[in-house]
Formats: sequence, structure tokens, C-alpha cells
Amino acid sequence: MKIISTPIELKEYLSNSNKTEGFQGNHSVGFVPTMGALHEGHITLIKEARKDNEIVVISIFVNPTQFLEGEDLDNYPRKDEADKKICELSGVDILFLPNANSIYGNDEVSILAPSVRGYVLEGFSRPGHFNGVLSVVMKLLNIVSPTRAYFGKKDAQQLNLITLMVKQFFMSVEIISIDTVRESDGLALSSRNIYLSKKEREEALKISASLQIAAKMIIKNIVDSHEIINKMREHLEPLEIFYVEILNRDFEIIKEVELENTVILVEVKLGETRLLDNIWL
Ligand code: AMP
Repeated sequence: MKIISTPIELKEYLSNSNKTEGFQGNHSVGFVPTMGALHEGHITLIKEARKDNEIVVISIFVNPTQFLEGEDLDNYPRKDEADKKICELSGVDILFLPNANSIYGNDEVSILAPSVRGYVLEGFSRPGHFNGVLSVVMKLLNIVSPTRAYFGKKDAQQLNLITLMVKQFFMSVEIISIDTVRESDGLALSSRNIYLSKKEREEALKISASLQIAAKMIIKNIVDSHEIINKMREHLEPLEIFYVEILNRDFEIIKEVELENTVILVEVKLGETRLLDNIWL
């Protein structure tokens, strides 16, 4: 596994690898952008990238511009050595580990999240967060020029906005979405789960349980969004709920669940930790 820390070096390395003997034309490149503290969720993205592509690139970059003032940028979990091992064992070819100075300059061109989709749900409680996400993803995609880039459905709003950016900016990368990987008791894996105390970890199970309640209602043909949201909220109480929302795949509010076109999303705060989860129907 090759470890590279600057955009220029990575671009050069990738363009040289296209000239390697024995291959016709360009290699396919699968790219997995992450913020590190890797877990099974990230590993699943890497494995999917490994299946479909000749070269697998993963980036680990805790992107400062997507953290708002007072958020956990300085305390965000960092596990560099363990992450390197995980990458090596998962079949990563290139690990990109840039520092902020090599990604950002002083007087930056801005990429702005759309004013509706970027400012609801997580974007409502974290205004500007998705400007930072889209900026860094745009930069990383331009550095790596991957054939395919892999993102988790767990961050549904992020995935939706990145897909929109790629479409609206006519970027030539295929965005591949990957199902959420969970603990055996249902909790969605997240780098932030390590912040949870034992009690909070137990309470966090209410999140996936509330989504299961919704799924069971829908199986019984109860499709009224209001009714489902109320039941989910009842189950989540007394947790601090940021939102429980039922949207279509274009992220518009819908009054009734439409099969194959619905995402049910939850975000709660446990102690100081925000936890997201969702199901796609
Ligand atoms: P992060 O390091 O949190 O920025 O996540 C990097 C990528 O991994 C994003 O595309 C996430 O959506 C994805 N991801 C995070 N947690 C999970 C999970 N539990 N299952 C699947 N993908 C995940």
C-alpha cells in the first residue's frame, strides 16, 4: 500500500500508474473518502470499491470546513496507526492522508450547498456544514479523478447532495451508495459511537428500534407519514430529537410513504453526541 500526503504527488502517482505495462488504456479507480477512525462501515465501502475497480484509493482527512464553531473538530477520533493497518488488510492500494494546508488556500472559491436541501435536517441544526462537505468532496474528486466513488447511505443527506453536485456540475464520476452497516443489536456503526457512555449506548438502540417500528407499520400498510412519525417519536422519547422525517428520494416531504421512493431519517443527540440513522424503502 502506498501512502501519499499531497494532492500533486497523488495526481502524479495515479497518472503514472495508468502507464504501467500490461494494461490497456486507463485503470478504473474506486475512491472512498473518509474522516478516519475506520470501522466495518468504512471497510464495506473499501471492499465494494475493491470488487469493481483495478485501483482503490481511500482518503483520510478530518475536514475542518465541515465543522461548525464549537463542534468536535479537535476531539474528533483519530486512530492513524490502526487506520493504516485496516487499509492495508482491506486491500487499499493508495492511502491519501493530506493535511489541511495542502487542501485549502487562503482565499478560497466557494462551493455552496443548495439553499433548500442543504439547510434542512442536519443542515438546519448545522448551517453551513454541507458547504464544507461539498467543497472537500469536490476537491478530493478532482484530485483522484475516480471512475467510481463510494458513499454510505447512513449519511443520506450527504449522499443526496453529493449526487446532486456531481449531476449539476456534469462531473464524470459514478456515485455508488452502500447500505448501512450495523452492530448486531441494530446500532448503526459510526466513528462517533466511541463517545457514548454505557448508558447512552443502551439508549441509542432506540434509534434503530424506532426505524424498525416504522418498517413494521409500513408492512401492515400504514403509510401515513404523520402517524408513523408520531409512533417513532413516542418510542424515541425522552431522547433529544433533532428530527424524524419522511422524505422521497429527492428529499421532499411526503404525506404518505411511497415504496421504492422513501427515506425515513432520524437524528438525536445523546449527551454531546449526534447520532444519525435512516432506512430506505
Ligand atoms: P466518515 O468517515 O464518517 O466521513 O464516513 C466516510 C464514509 O463512510 C461516508 O460515505 C459514510 O456515509 C460511510 N459510512 C459511515 N458509517 C457507515 C456505516 N455504518 N455503514 C456504511 N457506510 C458508512
